[in-house]
Amino acid sequence: MPEKKILRLSLDDLDTPHYGCTTYTLSEIVKELNSIGVSFMDYPHLVRLNPNIPWKTRGNGAVSIIFIYDDKEKVFSIADQIVYESYKKGEKKSTPALILCEEESITEDIMRFSEDALYKVLSIKRAKSIIKEHNNILFKTYGGEIGLIGALAALANPLTEHTYELICYRLPKNFGLPRKVDKESIIEMSEKTFPYTFNNYDPLTGRILITPHGNDPILFGIRGISPHKLVEAFSMIKVYEEISHFLIFKTNQGTNAHLNFSFKINEVKSYYSVKVKGYVKTNPVITKGGHVFFMLADDTSEICCAAYEPTKNFRNIVLKLRVGDYIEVGGGVRPPTRRYRSKVLNLEYLNILSLVEEHVYENPVCPKCNRRTKSLGKNKGFKCEKCKSRFPFLPKEKRIIPRNISPGIYIPPPSAHRHLTKPLQYYGLNLKIDAPFDASIFYRQFN
Ligand code: ATP
Repeated sequence: MPEKKILRLSLDDLDTPHYGCTTYTLSEIVKELNSIGVSFMDYPHLVRLNPNIPWKTRGNGAVSIIFIYDDKEKVFSIADQIVYESYKKGEKKSTPALILCEEESITEDIMRFSEDALYKVLSIKRAKSIIKEHNNILFKTYGGEIGLIGALAALANPLTEHTYELICYRLPKNFGLPRKVDKESIIEMSEKTFPYTFNNYDPLTGRILITPHGNDPILFGIRGISPHKLVEAFSMIKVYEEISHFLIFKTNQGTNAHLNFSFKINEVKSYYSVKVKGYVKTNPVITKGGHVFFMLADDTSEICCAAYEPTKNFRNIVLKLRVGDYIEVGGGVRPPTRRYRSKVLNLEYLNILSLVEEHVYENPVCPKCNRRTKSLGKNKGFKCEKCKSRFPFLPKEKRIIPRNISPGIYIPPPSAHRHLTKPLQYYGLNLKIDAPFDASIFYRQFN
């Protein structure tokens, strides 16, 4: 009898702007592998990679599964067929990649590649040379090779800090039609399951965040920190169309996994996701379009930081920063453009570490009648307009301006979050705790 092995399979780049979704194709593979009797060892992994990669379709997500089976070639052939079918249905407008390997193939170099993919821009060449060094990794690309980067990165991300997402899929006959999901029931579910689910809707704008808007097969995705709570939340949502199936993923969404890497300003590169500490060098200004900009400096260089209009009330905090404040910021780096000739760091969070005192110097108050005096000119002293007394030696008075802001972490509202953004309520929470894999709940077929 062939020996049973722990296998890992990963996929990326099945989305096109008009059809498909990498998680959906994986769900079809899971269905097929279920039917041949593989034993899944964990929830499928949905790994969000550097969100600032310019060639991503949507949220730069790649997926993988880990399971036990004895026939690697059979699994590869099943997955290959499913990926090829999806690729054809997407009119070959994506460049998918599929990888299958044994657990032993997950070595240091692949782990490092996975970590780098969270915040750097990686090359196909590096992915291919790693794969080549492991002669037992099976892989296939379709229409191009760029998908290999995401697929290799998803294969080995340990998801040390993680959350979960229950993704519910539509029947193919409904793809492209308006989603029939009751908004009120989503808000109610959100309130009842808080803080175990997150970013279901944005209370500030009233916008529902669990339903996408494109032609993709996803009806909705509920994010949270407990798979069982997600199933409970799922049952609270009223849906007025037939559902195909759902799959629960373990994911690095909501963990800031892309912002764990510290940079000096002179090391910051375009399209990277970075974390930088520095001093505010210019007071923030707001432009006509509602975007807020300021300069940040450290001992190596300076960079322009931006909080764009969609970050809404987050901008009000940023506007309160003053020259000399010591802060840490995290976000994506936009390359120089014709309009903004330097790199711009788009803020995804702001951690105020210390605030400078803000003050002004004013003319002294008349010691006799308590009215503010008038200056008689530089170094000539002051005069009280009421009692006409002159005070040649009185100094100016320092007035402290209240800052109305405190040290701490600030983030944009949910509608401006990226998939990886850590919600405020999860700062300080241990997101490393694993929910034991429950094979009875992770996949459910309805129609
Ligand atoms: P979805 O989130 O809906 O799955 P997507 O945004 O993931 O869509 P893709 O079609 O997967 O879009 O495109 C992202 C592409 O970028 C993939 O081909 C992937 O291999 C590549 N990629 C991912 N991370 C990096 C990285 N750090 N450096 C270079 N390329 C990357």
